[in-house]
Amino acid sequence: MATAIELKNVSKTYKGEEDAAVRNLSLKIEKGKIVTLLGPSGCGKTTTLRLIAGFERPEEGEIYIGEKPMARENVWISPEKRRIGMVFQDYALFPHLNVEENIGFGYRDSDREKRVFEVLEMVNLIGFEKKKIHHLSGGQQQRVALARALAKKPEVVLLDEPFSNLDTHLKQKMRNEVKRILKKANATGVFVSHDQKDALAISDEIIVMNNGVVQQKGSPKRIYQFPNNPFVAKFVGESNLIEGIVEKDKRWIRTGIGRVPCNQYHIITEGERVLLSVRPNGFTLTENSELRGVVVGYSYVGENLEVRIQLFDDEREKKTPLLVYLHPNEIVQEGDELGFTISANFVSVVKEC
Ligand code: ADP
Ligand code: MG
Repeated sequence: MATAIELKNVSKTYKGEEDAAVRNLSLKIEKGKIVTLLGPSGCGKTTTLRLIAGFERPEEGEIYIGEKPMARENVWISPEKRRIGMVFQDYALFPHLNVEENIGFGYRDSDREKRVFEVLEMVNLIGFEKKKIHHLSGGQQQRVALARALAKKPEVVLLDEPFSNLDTHLKQKMRNEVKRILKKANATGVFVSHDQKDALAISDEIIVMNNGVVQQKGSPKRIYQFPNNPFVAKFVGESNLIEGIVEKDKRWIRTGIGRVPCNQYHIITEGERVLLSVRPNGFTLTENSELRGVVVGYSYVGENLEVRIQLFDDEREKKTPLLVYLHPNEIVQEGDELGFTISANFVSVVKEC
């Protein structure tokens, strides 16, 4: 697969700041993929996008788009020459211009009219050409911003928190819509988000960041089911962190709550002390299981029944109840005794203890 974007050991510290916004960051994004930089506010996501776009210049490191260097020692390519489209967090549309004028802004080739029509069609806004921006809904404004970013047939489209201003229902619709449009335009999409649901739903690959540093890269499924450090386990979804010791055949970990299955035998050794992340989705009610406990709290949230279970044999020091997601059809009450088994597909080694 060809590489669309590559950052090699890129660092950026803003003037007057002590800490780097982005530190020694390396990442590679394949052509045609949709990738999300996911992390908490202030972790350096927007700075990374601005470095790729050329709105910021790194003090150290190299940035490539396609195979071509954009920024490195003695090389600097300005933003307008980078074949990049950008959708800003607040859309940054021109309020005094109509839809058509916004999309065609800065487009100087003779096929302007034809191209504006093409991208309007792509984003399903035919008929809206003459509308004023403030007469459009949030979702429509987002389509205009995307159409403007696509007008010059960019190789790469950068989108900074594009769903943060939309309500939940519209958000779901726009996620699918934006994904379809980017794939149709044959563009590589780089999203920035602090919302794990958006990231999981839209991405081919997720890059989790914290404090300007990459924590883990992988498919949404890989990141969710097999986080490789406690930060990723806690930031992308909920997780139970449990210490244990690797048993003889490396398929089981003996923990304070009992034996937990694990299929990451290739990264652990017998007798090793490890920290496990066990996702709340990894539990199945099983009557005669050795893992048993009592319900100490629950909340029904529609897609799940979120249950807190205090285990009987819990030898862990803090004895934090386990968080377990059950099917919403289940009925439980505080004080109920439950047995369950754990699926190894939701158990991940997050760190040596
Ligand atoms: P994110 O998009 O993940 O919220 P940013 O890239 O915006 O994070 O910010 C990373 C860090 O850089 C933060 O500590 C932020 O305060 C700082 N920062 C961002 N922009 C500037 C700026 N223009 N001047 C000084 N500091 C900045
Ligand atoms: Mg940001």
